[in-house]
Amino acid sequence: MNNTRKLLPWREAMKVNWRAIKMLYQYNPQMILSRLLFVAWEAFTPYIGIYLSALIVEELAGSGDAERLIRLVWITLISSAVIVLVRALLTKWRDVYNYSVHLCVEGILAKKMLDMDFVSTDDPRTHELLARISHNATGGGWGLNRVFQYEELIGALLKLCGGITLTVTLFTSRVPDTAGNLSILNHPLMILLVIGMMLFITYIAPVLSNKAGNYSVKYAAQQDVANRHFTHYGYLGGKREFAADVRIYRQYALSEKYCTGKNNFFSSQGVLAKLNRGPVGLLKAASAGVSVLFTGIVYGFVCMKAYAGAFGIGAVTQYAASIVKVSEGVSGLISAAGDMRNNAIFLEVIFEYMDIPNSMYQGSLTVEKRRDREYEVEFKNVSFRYPGSENFVLKHVNMKFKIGSKLAVVGMNGSGKTTFIKLLCRLYDPTEGEILLNGIDIRKYNYLDYMNIFSVVFQDFCLLPLKLGENVGGKIEYDRELVTECLKKAGYGERLANMSEGLETYLYKDYTWEGTDVSGGEAQKIALARTLYKDAPFMILDEPTAALDPIAEAEVYSKFNEIVGDKTAIYISHRLSSCKFCDEIAVFHEGAVVQMGTHSQLLADEKGKYYELWNAQAQYYTA
Ligand code: ADP
Repeated sequence: MNNTRKLLPWREAMKVNWRAIKMLYQYNPQMILSRLLFVAWEAFTPYIGIYLSALIVEELAGSGDAERLIRLVWITLISSAVIVLVRALLTKWRDVYNYSVHLCVEGILAKKMLDMDFVSTDDPRTHELLARISHNATGGGWGLNRVFQYEELIGALLKLCGGITLTVTLFTSRVPDTAGNLSILNHPLMILLVIGMMLFITYIAPVLSNKAGNYSVKYAAQQDVANRHFTHYGYLGGKREFAADVRIYRQYALSEKYCTGKNNFFSSQGVLAKLNRGPVGLLKAASAGVSVLFTGIVYGFVCMKAYAGAFGIGAVTQYAASIVKVSEGVSGLISAAGDMRNNAIFLEVIFEYMDIPNSMYQGSLTVEKRRDREYEVEFKNVSFRYPGSENFVLKHVNMKFKIGSKLAVVGMNGSGKTTFIKLLCRLYDPTEGEILLNGIDIRKYNYLDYMNIFSVVFQDFCLLPLKLGENVGGKIEYDRELVTECLKKAGYGERLANMSEGLETYLYKDYTWEGTDVSGGEAQKIALARTLYKDAPFMILDEPTAALDPIAEAEVYSKFNEIVGDKTAIYISHRLSSCKFCDEIAVFHEGAVVQMGTHSQLLADEKGKYYELWNAQAQYYTA
């Protein structure tokens, strides 16, 4: 497999960089402006010092006019003070936003994730792209952080302009005819030769260094894989949740294979080390050597001209300093442009992620806030298959929910119960058929508005390592009394009463070691409280008591009517005994609703799926 990558053509590479700059600017304009101004100031101001000190040296070496000297010193002092003062202000302004560069980069990626259709957030390809973006950034500093190289480019351009302005007279000032052999320095061919040599060296140094950088691009795919191994396996031993399994099954041996093996990309015998011992090392050394040569030629030429009498001693400092700046400008320009070109393929990965389309139709109808909670939902001939899959996991589902009723959804694993809920909450749209809310296709409603009528405890719900109250209330400012009441209703009251920090207690130990560890059952109660706090007309519970002990489970059921109140409840469960209290039971089998009715109606059908499922469980209790 050829897993090396190629550079993009210059035009395309610069286009990608420009798009990235615009994206960063849109996200945080002040950050870009403050940094730009800082770069411009840094690039331009050194010439003021170079010019003024040349004038002072010239005056000292020449007529030595005291009055003029004092004036020059004052101008130098005042301008230096102004330069330093403005620089300090610009640094402060830039630093305010500098700290937010990381936030900005991460913010752009996170915002995209939040704005994305759920279908895409659930797609493994999206997460693969995100992982690559993260590995490129941590592995080689590639990606959005590297876009700021354009500042180097601008800085280099300004340096170049300033340097050239102060250097022109080095080549135009003539050596007097009395200088003998040295008057050859006036010859146009001589001047061309010196300029040619300088340009060649200035050009060749960054080209060599960029060539070294090209190897990062060439081996980006291999480095990506190695980084991925490292991220996944390198930290296995340090993760609290894996600690027991890693020890019992000696999984560290596995991680060693992926991370420290002899042929690993990063190991001493790996690709990276070989490149650095070989071509990359040589290119970098050659680049540094060539730069030193440049300084030698500059000093040689300037000193010879001064010695021959072309200009005074003051001008030597000006020319030497400003021509070095010209050289720095040219190499900075080439090196920044080369770096931006190298970065372009990594930016392409970011744009592949940013360009993931939102193809779900976004309606604009508002969902009427009804006090009477008279919402009626109907599934009309709904079929569904997951994106990229051939198989229909729901087939021709027809169902209408009676308002205020309790519907139980039962069926074997994989029969489509959770998928049914995901469609109801419009996390996915049906492949065929439609879902209606009060007679209108749910796609026509404003998405966020529609989501507001549901509160759900998914099977794989997730609590955040934040404070208990914030988890239930869903925000920093929440109604403390209501949160406490919901926790009590969900069966968490006793535990809450024993918590010294109460609602302020951090869940888990991710944020602070004083946080509390939460068992599966406790987590389920907190998730249930969160659902109650949202107080939406539809309450959906996917296996809400799976992690509860039998006593806690019985407690939840005994209070189920109180918990659900006048809401429409949809309740998924494997434990059929717990569905008896529901008004209606829908039996799913292989993606279809095969039976519907009350517990006693369904049990009466001895050939039905419900009867089979019921007896499969009942035998353990009745034997
Ligand atoms: P249940 O909740 O009844 O256990 P699910 O609705 O979770 O069933 O799953 C129904 C089928 O859909 C299963 O075969 C499952 O493998 C498949 N499935 C679930 N989620 C996805 C997904 N994100 N992508 C592809 N297939 C999925």
